[in-house]
Amino acid sequence: MKFSLLMVVISTTLVIAHLRFDREKVFRVKPQDGKQASVLKDLTQTIELDFWYPDATHDVAANMTVDFRVSEKDSQTIQSILEQHKMNYEILIHNLQEEIEKQFDVTDEVSGRHSYAKYNDWGKIVSWTEKIVQKYPEMVSRIKIGSTFEDNPLYVLKIGKKDGEAKAIFMDCGIHAREWVSPAFCQWFVYQATKSYGKNRIMTKLLDRMTFYVLPVFNVDGYIWSWTQDRMWRKNRSKNKNSTCIGTDLNRNFDVSWNSSSNTANPCLHVYRGPAAESEKETKAVTNFIRRHKNSIKAYITFHSYSQVLLFPYGYTSKLPPNYDDLLKVSRIATDVLSTRYETRYTYGPIASTMYPTSGSSLDWAYKAGIKHTFAFELRDKGKFGFLLPESQIKPTCKETMLCVKFIAKYILKQYS
Ligand SMILES: [Zn+2]
Repeated sequence: MKFSLLMVVISTTLVIAHLRFDREKVFRVKPQDGKQASVLKDLTQTIELDFWYPDATHDVAANMTVDFRVSEKDSQTIQSILEQHKMNYEILIHNLQEEIEKQFDVTDEVSGRHSYAKYNDWGKIVSWTEKIVQKYPEMVSRIKIGSTFEDNPLYVLKIGKKDGEAKAIFMDCGIHAREWVSPAFCQWFVYQATKSYGKNRIMTKLLDRMTFYVLPVFNVDGYIWSWTQDRMWRKNRSKNKNSTCIGTDLNRNFDVSWNSSSNTANPCLHVYRGPAAESEKETKAVTNFIRRHKNSIKAYITFHSYSQVLLFPYGYTSKLPPNYDDLLKVSRIATDVLSTRYETRYTYGPIASTMYPTSGSSLDWAYKAGIKHTFAFELRDKGKFGFLLPESQIKPTCKETMLCVKFIAKYILKQYS
């Protein structure tokens, strides 16, 4: 009996093997006018495109740089349609599978161990959270804020020296599964913060007076899936009623202008908003936690990739937020500070006008909940590697971003002292 059960387990594992992306391509197209934009949108009626930028077909507009992934089979058709309409395009990635393999270009210091210079899978991240608490018991604690659809724990690391309710910043990474450099940054932040306490003047001051809540992986189930099954996965892994398509886009699931557009209502889309606002366990865990600490949390920062942009509210409307001038000023200086390290250029501004309109995002929700400083980072790069940023770029990405986040934290501390 036991033996046959084992056989079943083995054969199921074999059936759902890793998806491969041999010779799949990533195109970059810049539609010059509305007509060319419609050509692109029409393509999606017959061909399955995975939008990398913007997130979905409905956001495609004239003069926007549009990146999408397509199978080898369909790439010929795409090319001839683009040429037929005299559209500007380039092929950013010729063989996606090769790029996936080339991401891992940093060799292990000790094979199989957690490393800040490498992408770490969920198992490594969990044991890392345990180790960091053991190493800095006076500064770091681990809070389980809930669990995921597949019953994985959602851990927030609380970092700071102050007892009780200090002014706090909440940061999350990995809400979108395939944006791997994002969780890498959250781990780096915790590492640098703890390591430089007592050595770096600014960090010491920040940790003496503030609390940082860091959620290193928001979408744990999706992150695991992106490692084990489908590198291009974005949503969580919850089952949808009356649909065989899996998952909700957690960054469309927040209770802010949630049902404003029907564009995100299809469960088969990458940007599916879910059956109701806060329907997902992951979203609920985060909003409950933030609501519980509403009086102390003064800033909310969420990390995505890619495109090198620093965003602030709003996404769901083109109206400007009441403290627009302040948010604009902080973003301008913060992106300047970021560029001092490697001259990496970021643009900045409200989501709706800087990228494209979005509803149900965590950033807008946090702002509406009363947190006056909310930011979203779209980390490196600008599309050469897209979601497949090589590991050799993790450290530089984290170092420059750290400067920027420290500046924002310093600014918040000053505002509320
Ligand atoms: Zn994202």
